[in-house]
Amino acid sequence: MVKVVKFGGSSLADAEHFRMVERIILEEPERRYVVPSAPGKRFSSDTKVTDMLYECYQIASQGDNIDASFAKIVDRYNSIIEGLGIELDLSKEFESIKTSFALHAGRDYAASRGEYLNGLILAKLLGFDFIDAAKVVRFAEDGTFDDETTDKILNAELDRHYRAVIPGFYGSMPNGTIKTFSRGGSDITGSIVARAARATIYENWTDVSGYLMTDPRIVDSPCGINNITYHEMRELSYMGAGVLHEDSIFPVRAAKIPINIRNTNDPSVKGTMIVPNGTDIPDEAHIITGIAGRKGFTILNIEKAHMNSEIGFGRRVLSAIESEGITFEHLPSGIDTMSVVLSGEISVDQKNRILNNICATCLPEYIGFEGGLALIAVVGRGMVHNKGTAAKVFSAVADANINIRMIDQGSSEINIILGVDEKDFETALRAIYDKFVKH
Ligand code: ASP
Repeated sequence: MVKVVKFGGSSLADAEHFRMVERIILEEPERRYVVPSAPGKRFSSDTKVTDMLYECYQIASQGDNIDASFAKIVDRYNSIIEGLGIELDLSKEFESIKTSFALHAGRDYAASRGEYLNGLILAKLLGFDFIDAAKVVRFAEDGTFDDETTDKILNAELDRHYRAVIPGFYGSMPNGTIKTFSRGGSDITGSIVARAARATIYENWTDVSGYLMTDPRIVDSPCGINNITYHEMRELSYMGAGVLHEDSIFPVRAAKIPINIRNTNDPSVKGTMIVPNGTDIPDEAHIITGIAGRKGFTILNIEKAHMNSEIGFGRRVLSAIESEGITFEHLPSGIDTMSVVLSGEISVDQKNRILNNICATCLPEYIGFEGGLALIAVVGRGMVHNKGTAAKVFSAVADANINIRMIDQGSSEINIILGVDEKDFETALRAIYDKFVKH
């Protein structure tokens, strides 16, 4: 049995947290492969080491002196080493990183040093081997993650180390330069390592005790989620419920390895278990698993009689949007109506070009953009076999006197998405939560 454990930045922010992490790892001998983030914030106004590195590199790339900015980074690491009282001298590493900054080794290289140095410290503290992620995590020529090559190399490398620390967040390009994942990407490395180690579980240790049913900034102390499927997780994180990096699901999902979100500051709590499919897990106390949402969507509404019998209508609409380099999010449609939900900023010029293009190719009877839309996703595997869930969602919103502007149900029947005015977003979300959880 092999467990892969990833620790986030707040779990490794100072010597005291390193000690907590050490206890957690050594408590179970199956915790053999460890993926650390860079040191995070120690208090709310603190700066994460990754951000310090980006800033320092920015100064270096302007050709300015980085002594003061680099010294602060060195201090962060040295205070961890001193606090732990271990025999480790990173001065050669610091020198070589500083030289590489002066030689403009790249922004990704700079950022990656946060995890690299933290990995060296953790490996020393635990007495584990150190595997540089640059050697085992590979990106393809086009900059995308090369999963198959990585899995082969990493699996063979792990075979050579019974216990090891592999820093998160980065890997290398075919030419050897360092490339990072997007922010928060150590979660992805953890998942990659879990797959390559053929692990029984991927434990992701952070500073919360797992997923909550909804956003605690909107609902006061929402219930926690004990079990959730990968699929439900994807739906919720797409809508902004963020504990894990959204791409971190893919490597473990392919290998059917569960992820357990745990709290470093409260290790006795079981946290949230993210599992391959719902049939393996007990039903939750509530029909729905979670509610998430966000603002900032725009709808393009199109009407035309007999649209359903016109071949190629949808394709022409979507290609007008594609030609502006915009992706669409949802596509609710009726017999003679079609709506395309888009996210993010769309300029007036882009809107005009899309309208002109569709008018010319589709001859609609009505077409128009409407902005200011918020979407709310109500997600739950329990919805498939519980009648009346949709009615409950809609009545909750109606009872709160809120108009629903759009409804979409995913084909997998595990989610219902509603669109409401941005001003109604928080009230609608609270109303749905109260209906399902408090009643
Ligand atoms: N240190 C990186 C960041 O701050 C990656 C991570 O922590 O996962 O984004």
